[in-house]
Amino acid sequence: MDSNKYLSSLEYFLNKMQSSDDTFTNEVQDAIKDLCEILRIGAVKTMFQSNSIEFRYATLTDNTAVYIIFPLKGQPEWSVEEKNRIKSICDMLFIFNGRTRMIELSKKLAFYDPEFKVYNLKYFHRFLASLIREDKIFGYYAVNFNLKQLNMINNRIGRNNCTKIMQRYIDLINSKLSEEEALCRLGGDNFAAIIKTENFPVVSKIFLGVNIDAPDICGESVRMSSSVGLYKISEQPKYAITSSEIMDRIHIAMQKAKRSAKAQIIEFDQELFEMQKRASAINAAFDDAIANEEFIVNYQPKVSLKGYTISGAEALCRWIHNEKVVPPGLFIPILEQSNDICKLDFYMLRKVCSDLRRWIDAGIKPVRISVNLSRMHLKNPLLVTQVCSIVDKYELPHDLIELELTETINPVEFKELQKAINGLRQNGFATSVDDFGTGYSSLNLIKEIPWNVLKLDKSLLPACGSENVWQDRILFKYIVAMAKEMGLECVAEGVETMEQLQLLSENNCEMAQGFFFDKPMNVKDFEDKLRDRVYTI
Ligand code: C2E
Ligand code: MG
Ligand code: MG
Repeated sequence: MDSNKYLSSLEYFLNKMQSSDDTFTNEVQDAIKDLCEILRIGAVKTMFQSNSIEFRYATLTDNTAVYIIFPLKGQPEWSVEEKNRIKSICDMLFIFNGRTRMIELSKKLAFYDPEFKVYNLKYFHRFLASLIREDKIFGYYAVNFNLKQLNMINNRIGRNNCTKIMQRYIDLINSKLSEEEALCRLGGDNFAAIIKTENFPVVSKIFLGVNIDAPDICGESVRMSSSVGLYKISEQPKYAITSSEIMDRIHIAMQKAKRSAKAQIIEFDQELFEMQKRASAINAAFDDAIANEEFIVNYQPKVSLKGYTISGAEALCRWIHNEKVVPPGLFIPILEQSNDICKLDFYMLRKVCSDLRRWIDAGIKPVRISVNLSRMHLKNPLLVTQVCSIVDKYELPHDLIELELTETINPVEFKELQKAINGLRQNGFATSVDDFGTGYSSLNLIKEIPWNVLKLDKSLLPACGSENVWQDRILFKYIVAMAKEMGLECVAEGVETMEQLQLLSENNCEMAQGFFFDKPMNVKDFEDKLRDRVYTI
């Protein structure tokens, strides 16, 4: 046997294996052919067996790798030296096969969610990118789904059991998907999937709600459903879409589905696309707008019906952007999707405090000013301390500031709201329930939280031409009576007509805010009003 030829073939073979992820690539297979010829090997077979008695190499997974070497037909027996060389080749094959398996395993770990045993976001991006690259993305639905009411289920059956139920729900969805589809966990109870259009009706039934049988987990079956954002990738877009764009779109649609009281599945469309563009523009402009003081305070008087004097005012935000006034309805809901709304509310509180300080210093008798606080603040454990420190900087009595918050039905938020209002009241601030009557208006909200003021939403006032005027009047009467009985001040919002004003008087609702008296106005005009104070009716 030619030793030089053997050594150079061996080196060549090792190099090929070294530069390859796998021992089964064509290059490695070609390289081993030379060695086989030199060592007169007819075939090499590799087997991985469980519990075999022919153990040769124990693998990492407790299996056995068996390499069977067949001699070329009609050749003499291998010499001892040849047998040793063949053994060395098997050793090397085993080591390299082991390496291949390790690479596969680490890829799995890198692309799998360890808890739910589904793919992770990294894999999902890869999967989408390969569908896009191969022009196979059309005819798919991309989906972002978020499991509904997990808090409630957690509270009822415990966190661990809830995770097991989640796993069953996700397994059920996964079982409906083929190899050409994929599901991944984005984190928490947030998942994404890419589903063939024709398969979507089957999966959407599970999104809309199924009972997960779980007698072994919690002795009952548990209803599971999801809020779903959908993007149909059906037609050739004008430009090449990227996996990140797909992810953005389904996320936006899912957020809308989550907020929606009615629709559980929302499809991304042109309108949402425009909204997304507007939202990105607003988010991008926000920091500069705060730094350049583009946000200004408008004041809308609250008028006491005893003598029609100004007894307070609400601070309402306006954004002067590119020389236009942007109303809050266009930017507040967008800022509420991030923490930016909290920055804006504190900015408004600072501006209000600075105005109050200036009025007091100029000898103008101030009135209590209410500032809107988004519910996003409720997650901030330092809310009360931060409000105090802003107001104290301007050395103002706390009772000149009222904080308006809207109602909530979420039990977790309810607790946070209760804590925040208690803290604000203990520090001498006034607090009001804003827009009472628009949401779920739970009576617990006013029974268990120590508010000062109930602000009745304008939808509670009978409107001109309304068909149900007498029912509206009865409702209004009893809400005011109940609030007063509980020691709350009542402010009716959106008072526009003399008839509405009369209704307030008849029912002892002591304050009105609305266009009947004034629209929100700039600080200069409000200062003039403060000097005058009285409205003539
Ligand atoms: P809101 O706190 O309930 O404020 C009352 C809204 O009703 C104001 O709308 C006001 O202009 C309007 N309004 C007052 N009287 C009448 C009336 O007689 N008829 C009608 N049709 N409307 C009347 P605006 O200023 O557009 O504000 C809308 C909402 O934006 C506010 O509702 C509040 O939720 C939010 N907002 C405004 N400024 C801020 C702020 O600084 N921070 C936060 N978090 N939210 C704010
Ligand atoms: Mg308000
Ligand atoms: Mg309101």
